[in-house]
Amino acid sequence: MLGGGYAGLMVTRKLEERLPPGDDIVLVDETGDHLVQHELHRTIRYPGFADDITVPLDELVTRATVREATVTDLDPDAGTVALADDGTLDYDAGVVALGSQTADYGIPGVAEHATPLKRLDHAAELRRDFFDAVDPDGGTVVVVGAGLSGVQTAGEFAELADHEGLADDVEVVLVERAETVAPSFPENFRATTRNALRDLGVRLETGTEVTEVTADAVVADDGEIPHDVLAWTGGVRGPDALDGERQDVRADLRLSERTFVAGDAADVVDADGERVPASAQAAVRASPAVARNVERVLDAARADDSVGHLEKWAFETPGWLISVGDDAVAQLGPEVFRGTAANVIKTSVGLTYLAEHGSLRDAIRVVREELGDDRVLPELRDREF
Ligand SMILES: Cc1cc2nc3c(=O)[nH]c(=O)nc-3n(C[C@H](O)[C@H](O)[C@H](O)COP(=O)(O)OP(=O)(O)OC[C@H]3O[C@@H](n4cnc5c(N)ncnc54)[C@H](O)[C@@H]3O)c2cc1C
Repeated sequence: MLGGGYAGLMVTRKLEERLPPGDDIVLVDETGDHLVQHELHRTIRYPGFADDITVPLDELVTRATVREATVTDLDPDAGTVALADDGTLDYDAGVVALGSQTADYGIPGVAEHATPLKRLDHAAELRRDFFDAVDPDGGTVVVVGAGLSGVQTAGEFAELADHEGLADDVEVVLVERAETVAPSFPENFRATTRNALRDLGVRLETGTEVTEVTADAVVADDGEIPHDVLAWTGGVRGPDALDGERQDVRADLRLSERTFVAGDAADVVDADGERVPASAQAAVRASPAVARNVERVLDAARADDSVGHLEKWAFETPGWLISVGDDAVAQLGPEVFRGTAANVIKTSVGLTYLAEHGSLRDAIRVVREELGDDRVLPELRDREF
């Protein structure tokens, strides 16, 4: 298993249940930790939350061996992996779940002047930039890219400015090439997200194509937007170990005879012919099918037989949930709503995930920070964790 994010962890856990005791499962990850990435933007405002969304992989697996190493290359046909420490790994069946990296589309200046948001140190850098550049005199925070991470990042900056008493002095601008925020989502979700952002005072610059970034400004086709802090959440590309390419796969998620790909590293057209959005939700939902297909490959190899039928996966989602600062937007089926109800749903989803993959301490902090202390049961509120 290559990568210990949502897809890698979930497939590993399924395989731990399914594979015979004699089969070795190795989980390679360069950090050795599982990061609850869909809450990463929260750490811009609440740096202490970083500990709660980082869980050592060792604590989450039962029989897999966790190997902390960076994958530099792989040969999916031969089943070999090259590691940065000069080690190599051979496998009978493998899953590439290395996630994605931030795409800058070769736009000049992005790499030099903008900060992406994929890891905890990115969030820490953005927070530092905020306090260095706009606190206490005010200024402009620009977030480029209004997908899941960009919307939520803009929301955090707006709340942070408010919290610092700078709501009137800091302008948060969300720039998006498409004509709308959350462009891959249904219209009612987009409209509600737009309203939530506007209510927080975020300026929306949609239909704006960035052509260059300088130390002071984002240059767009229709003018320049000055920035003091610049977050780049403008899209995803494949990991370097895959030459920066997300791997095109069909509904069986198979890259080669013995290798599967899951999560953001895969660009999947599912069994319904739909392109699957890069998201934690899709990574988690594909994992059972990937695990079952891995099991089939191993069973066939053991029996010296052909693999035969592989399971085809279709992405079915009950809906989407995002935070916009202290507000949240939820889409459940055709319904879209925001405010307390959406926030409670978002928090319970986060809680379920953390309770399963983190700890009670993490779960309680999520409630504290997302909903306020009054929602924590009194008997737990005063406990020291
Ligand atoms: C701020 C933010 C907010 C988001 N909000 C949402 C949301 O609300 N809902 C949603 O569904 N999605 C959301 N997403 C997207 C979601 O986090 C990703 O789609 C998801 O993390 C993809 O899961 P994954 O398992 O493919 O990759 P990841 O979770 O990124 O895991 C990849 C793992 O591979 C490891 N790795 C990477 N490269 C190497 C290497 N070369 N060698 C060894 N190990 C390596 C990493 O350390 C990591 O542990 C958000 C993303 C961000 C950044």
